[in-house]
Amino acid sequence: MKKYVCPHCGEATISPIKKAFAGNQKAKGVVCPNCGKRCTNGMQSTVFHTITDFIMLVAVVIMYIKLDLSTMPILAVMLVTFIVNKLFDILFFPLVPSLRID
Ligand SMILES: [Zn+2]
Repeated sequence: MKKYVCPHCGEATISPIKKAFAGNQKAKGVVCPNCGKRCTNGMQSTVFHTITDFIMLVAVVIMYIKLDLSTMPILAVMLVTFIVNKLFDILFFPLVPSLRID
């Protein structure tokens, strides 16, 4: 499986699964096995998540008003949003160095 290039050392060390859970620049991110430094998904990822989360929120509110108080469709929408966010993190956004120092 294709690995992603670490922004610190330039080696392709980050697996797609790790990248999906690397979070945004305020998150802990993932540690590169080659150089030991942290990397996360960048600003585009954060902006994208903000947009998808907003769309999800609107969808959930609309469903909540229109449907009987069934939670299944709402959970489905939240799950789809989660998966879309992770997929976009994996496929489209570059890794960047983590901003956290701890
Ligand atoms: Zn590295």
